[in-house]
Amino acid sequence: MEQGLTYKKKPKVAIIGAGPAGCMCGITIAKDCDVTFFDISEPLKTLLPTGGGRCNLAHAEYDFKELAKAYPRGEKFLYSVFSKFSTYDTLEFFESIGVKTYAQDDGRIFPITNSAADVRNKLLAQLKSAKFLKEKVVDVKKVSDKFYVSTVNNNKYIYDIVVIAIGTHFGFQFLNKLPHKLYDLKPSLCGLVTKEDFSTLKGVVLKDVLIKNGNMMLEGDMLFTDSGVSGPVIFELSSINSRVGYPYSCKIKLIKNIVNFEDSLNVNRNMALKKLLSEILPKSFVKFFLNSLNIDLELKCKSLNSNSKGLLLESLNGFLITVMGAKNGGETVFSGGVNLDEITSNFESKMIDNLYFCGEILDIDGFCGGYNLQNCWSSGTLVGLNIVKTMCSM
Ligand SMILES: Cc1cc2nc3c(=O)[nH]c(=O)nc-3n(C[C@H](O)[C@H](O)[C@H](O)COP(=O)(O)OP(=O)(O)OC[C@H]3O[C@@H](n4cnc5c(N)ncnc54)[C@H](O)[C@@H]3O)c2cc1C
Repeated sequence: MEQGLTYKKKPKVAIIGAGPAGCMCGITIAKDCDVTFFDISEPLKTLLPTGGGRCNLAHAEYDFKELAKAYPRGEKFLYSVFSKFSTYDTLEFFESIGVKTYAQDDGRIFPITNSAADVRNKLLAQLKSAKFLKEKVVDVKKVSDKFYVSTVNNNKYIYDIVVIAIGTHFGFQFLNKLPHKLYDLKPSLCGLVTKEDFSTLKGVVLKDVLIKNGNMMLEGDMLFTDSGVSGPVIFELSSINSRVGYPYSCKIKLIKNIVNFEDSLNVNRNMALKKLLSEILPKSFVKFFLNSLNIDLELKCKSLNSNSKGLLLESLNGFLITVMGAKNGGETVFSGGVNLDEITSNFESKMIDNLYFCGEILDIDGFCGGYNLQNCWSSGTLVGLNIVKTMCSM
């Protein structure tokens, strides 16, 4: 059996939150510390819906700087983190606990079982020596060199080290009592509510559109919903603009090469405009689109007057949407949480020794594609390694 470090007494560590980040930290220190998890719910329950139940656990990007670019919040901070615990390390770790993985063409990495439940079981099997308390933590206080952890049931526990890994989906009221600055939570990776009424287009997908957002161009599929828009490119937009106030507007390029389209208007003079457009865009959208421009649905290309033609080309090149807010409850992650300036690159509080943070509670969030779980594996492991390193110097 593998042996841990040898010292008089194992330090008592409380990990608050048994999600992916907390559990990864727990696994890293399991042999060397006396670990107790606190969680309102079952351990790793939050892993089960990931990747639609398949668990998109990482992204096949092996250059740490490139990987960090997928995080609208945290990019610079993550350089050092990913240089210490990278995508390679993540895959090696999972292989070591019996989770073999594969990468899709789009770079998303999944377990070969395509089962988040299997990943969860394999992770929990590494935590047999840990204690799990199903209690909500309401306060963490440090008095001299000990932490006092209080729970909603009025229980108080004493620890040497505390790791906070509570994510962002359950609020973080008790953290307000700590001296750390917390950024407000804002929905990210979510559908958006628009001022324009697209409800009649619900379910229609526009393939491979380009969205102009400031000086960035985002590309991907967009889906109309009963309250606005969704789909991969909208998730990315919601993430980048997570801290931008509402309303904001942006323009969608519906056709990549507008000059080619103008040429085909001239070549296909006798064709109905709606037919020509339907070769590029879904029929139901074309009807909606022409109606919104007050262009007769039966009009032939040659009959477009110069005003209507100008309007048509302008709208194909920049179809305006006005974003009024995030779709309620649809967020995958939240931006916000613990200010990165107040923690070390090993995720220890700069104000309170032996207090650590990892996972989504940090002001770090990434795009869809395995990036948010990567943050959990990397931050959880580095917290654990630092705890073990600190103990060696005690
Ligand atoms: C539907 C869905 C699908 C997703 N799919 C993917 C994906 O495929 N790939 C990817 O990379 N990311 C995905 N994500 C994001 C990813 O799941 C999260 O980023 C990740 O779970 C964050 O892990 P965490 O450990 O930091 O926090 P969490 O997973 O949120 O875990 C925090 C834990 O803390 C507990 N807790 C909270 N407050 C307290 C308290 N006061 N006392 C005690 N316990 C407390 C909670 O019960 C919870 O178990 C998805 C998210 C959602 C919602």
